[in-house]
Amino acid sequence: MKVTVFGSGYVGLVTGTCLAEVGNEVLCIDIDEQKIAMLKQGEVPIHEPGLDALVQKNIAGKRLGFSTDIAQGIAHGLFQFIAVGTPPDEDGSADLQYVLAVARSIGKNMKDYRIVVNKSTVPVGTADKVKDTIYETLGERGVNLEFDVVSNPEFLKEGAAIEDFMKPDRIIVGADNPRTTELLRILYAPFNRSHDRLVAMDIRSAELTKYAANAMLATKISFMNEMANLAEKLGADIEQVRLGIGADPRIGYHFIYPGCGYGGSCFPKDVKALERIAWEVDYNADLLNAVERVNNQQKQTLFNKIQGHFKGQLAGRTIALWGLAFKPNTDDMREAPSRTLMEALWKSGVRVQAYDPIASKEAQRIYGSRQDLTLCETPEAALEGADALAITTEWNVFRSLDFEGVKTTLKTPVVFDGRNLYDPGLVASQGIVYYSIGRPTVA
Ligand code: NAD
Repeated sequence: MKVTVFGSGYVGLVTGTCLAEVGNEVLCIDIDEQKIAMLKQGEVPIHEPGLDALVQKNIAGKRLGFSTDIAQGIAHGLFQFIAVGTPPDEDGSADLQYVLAVARSIGKNMKDYRIVVNKSTVPVGTADKVKDTIYETLGERGVNLEFDVVSNPEFLKEGAAIEDFMKPDRIIVGADNPRTTELLRILYAPFNRSHDRLVAMDIRSAELTKYAANAMLATKISFMNEMANLAEKLGADIEQVRLGIGADPRIGYHFIYPGCGYGGSCFPKDVKALERIAWEVDYNADLLNAVERVNNQQKQTLFNKIQGHFKGQLAGRTIALWGLAFKPNTDDMREAPSRTLMEALWKSGVRVQAYDPIASKEAQRIYGSRQDLTLCETPEAALEGADALAITTEWNVFRSLDFEGVKTTLKTPVVFDGRNLYDPGLVASQGIVYYSIGRPTVA
């Protein structure tokens, strides 16, 4: 089948590449000329495991192409996927300008029937706006063409995006007629073989499903962080509590890890957007407000511990930071807890020596001009001459700590662990003062 994908970011590029991989002819359109020039050469501008090889393979197989030519994109695919960004507006609501710009382009250029498939995360009612925008533009042209709009939110996780797309937990298809659902079922059949994972529903429910899923996950994290903060005050160990509650299958072990807060391009933005959606229909989303508040506080927690340890005397110190990405296996630093920590440290006159296996280039792009940030080539180099080590991302490479190296390289042997990577007793037995989340500090 012929497929066009608008937006070649994390979602659009993975969608386009995976659809090409199973034999479709895919054309990816983006307005970013530099990005498209890179992609045409088989260079992938983001870090996503396995994506480079898959892009190159499908370009070579002539199933995957890239262009900035919007009209060409609309002429190409029966399916017109929208996978552009929906960043937060000033009031927290999702900014729909990019989605509606694509809708306008489709209305301006389409010559026969098209299925517009929205993959971007958008408020309930956006499909109606997309429809109205296309009708309006068709009206301006004085033509009457048939089209359908489908909501098909994406659930891939950065760092495991290919796997998630190829073997999805579910494929949500919100449509207002069975014929369009059937066409999407055919398109998704290669990813839906073992047992039926396609959940067909009405459009508004599909749009809300995406926000509800992210809000639920964010709630789990903030809940665990609240319990962790309580555990600290009560002298309990949240890791033992985690094991204790996870054993109940109604709770389960997944996604109940305490830490230094959630970040990334989705949870913070989607929780805010859902709060705003609720507000617009006169509903006060108390729980969501609290989830966001708890997370904002949690992102300060490592800084508070560092400040407490050094009794507020931070100016002139150096902190080694392991982990810049908002989670492992990605270079994405949007809303990352590392950023909150670094920015608080800089405000207090602290220098940061940071190491991340992948995200240093991204950190260079965001903070390159700062004199108080050194990006290091190895974890060990970040420790050189630092007063303490802080950890904000649970990269595998950090999981087995070289206690002797840490102790002899740091000026004072202190570790602030935002991801509970180590056994507190073991770290303390090596002569290192160890702060973690929701567990007693041991020295
Ligand atoms: P991104 O910022 O990485 O990419 C968006 C791309 O769209 C950019 O390359 C931009 O240049 C392009 N673009 C903007 N306007 C365009 C236009 N008119 N025509 C063509 N291209 C255009 O964004 P992303 O992370 O891929 O997210 C896209 C959407 O998917 C968002 O709504 C997001 O919430 C949602 N989502 C993201 C993830 C994730 O893990 N990143 C997961 C699920 C859903």
